[in-house]
Amino acid sequence: MKSLLLFGATGDLARRMLLPSLFGLDGDGLLPDDLRIVGTARSDLGDDAFKALAAASLKDFIEPERLKPEAVAKFIARLRYVRLDVSAPDQFMALRDALGESPADGLRIFLSTAPSLFGPTIAGLASAGLTGDQTRLALEKPLGHDLASSRAINDAVATVFPESRTFRIDHYLGKETVQNLLALRFGNALFEPLWNAQGIDHVQITVSETVGLEGRMSFYDEAGALRDMVQNHMLQLLALTAMEPPARFDAASVRDEKVKVLRSLRPIDSLTAPTHSVIGQYGAGAVGGQPVKGYAEELGRASNTETFVALKAHVDNWRWRSVPFYLRTGKRLPTRSTEIFIQFRAVPHSIFSGPGAALQPNKLIIRLQPEETITLRVMLKEPGLDRAGVRLREAPLDISIPNAFADSRRRIAYERLLLDLLDGDPTLFVRRDEVEGQWTWIDAIRAGWAANGMTPKPYAAGTWGPSAAIGLTERDGVTWHD
Ligand code: NAP
Repeated sequence: MKSLLLFGATGDLARRMLLPSLFGLDGDGLLPDDLRIVGTARSDLGDDAFKALAAASLKDFIEPERLKPEAVAKFIARLRYVRLDVSAPDQFMALRDALGESPADGLRIFLSTAPSLFGPTIAGLASAGLTGDQTRLALEKPLGHDLASSRAINDAVATVFPESRTFRIDHYLGKETVQNLLALRFGNALFEPLWNAQGIDHVQITVSETVGLEGRMSFYDEAGALRDMVQNHMLQLLALTAMEPPARFDAASVRDEKVKVLRSLRPIDSLTAPTHSVIGQYGAGAVGGQPVKGYAEELGRASNTETFVALKAHVDNWRWRSVPFYLRTGKRLPTRSTEIFIQFRAVPHSIFSGPGAALQPNKLIIRLQPEETITLRVMLKEPGLDRAGVRLREAPLDISIPNAFADSRRRIAYERLLLDLLDGDPTLFVRRDEVEGQWTWIDAIRAGWAANGMTPKPYAAGTWGPSAAIGLTERDGVTWHD
């Protein structure tokens, strides 16, 4: 019998994402019939209490029409629970016993616990003989808080799991639209000839949140926006946008190309941090018409942690010479949105004249949140007889993913990733050299802030960050796409 071992099975991520995703896969017949899902945590639960917790999670996070009683019963029957404190090595033998004969055969392991527990967990698994050469290990972020700590985690993992069986999660890579970026770029002849410094003026990547601290106080205050969002998700989006065509769509080829982009990122360091980065922290304000507290008040003390960061990045290679990549993320911004905005260059010469004939450059907007959409903005003629000269207007060519593919269910990103873990396909997981390339770039920025004594500038909750963030692009004649 095969087992998927879920550490941190009582936690927020397990309840909101992992159990609902596994249920989704099961409902579509994508889990092996003999797969057993074994949850572990310290909480004193038995199988029945864990099954009840899982059933409650499905109720909370799955649309009622998908909760067919027979599908729920089939899924719940797969679940087992083993109480285990991963910092107590002797308790791993009980886990081994609970897995029955040949416990390491086809074992898949998902660590959804704090990274500080990864080391003891891996050591415990090894000592109990649960790390056979077929075992695969998936790890949640954050993989460290800088290059050194990330290396320490990767070293601890590597003592037991070779890279080929280590699956580092960045759940953005499980999102349909992110994979669609590759389909759009490499499945169409239309874009690639323009996908370079000759065709593209600049790129903007925005991840904006309306929420504030949301209970993750001490974690967030130690991390800040740069480490929480840019180091992982935003650099993955940048790498997928900027990479060269991979030889094929497989793990080695795709990840080789992403690493090349990360290595080509021009460092933002002590010389350039003041001109190429802006940091902010929200004060009191209003979001969605509701008054909200400032960060320090939510936290209960003053802090120098950035809740907003804007960067002007460059990918120093032939394709992207002099093309800025503006990145921006923050909490308590006016809207919740994640998008990649690509502004093409203007036409070399306009044949149109007159007051209604101003041309806007084309834009491609790949939106991941709140809806998954791809929009190409093009110039079109306004309907009419135009006796005073042709009137042009920018109009969207929209592809709404939910509408274009209405017959397929919108999946949770973790469904894709859990399925790939079970299938052993690491293409959409982050390789060690990627994580370390990301941290190298991020560490230089933080060192640049420290060297220049940069501290976050205040911005009112419900605005797009400090005014300096607007200056960062306006200096180049670029406006943020809000
Ligand atoms: P959480 O709600 O705090 O859950 C932590 C889990 O770990 C619980 O099941 C907890 O159960 C278990 N645990 C804690 N100490 C343990 C120990 N000594 N031995 C065994 N189990 C132990 O955290 P989470 O939000 O689910 O996040 C899990 C991981 O995913 C974290 O690294 C987090 O940064 C990452 N992550 C979370 C999200 C998210 O949306 N939640 C998103 C991205 C990444 P007991 O208390 O019962 O032991």
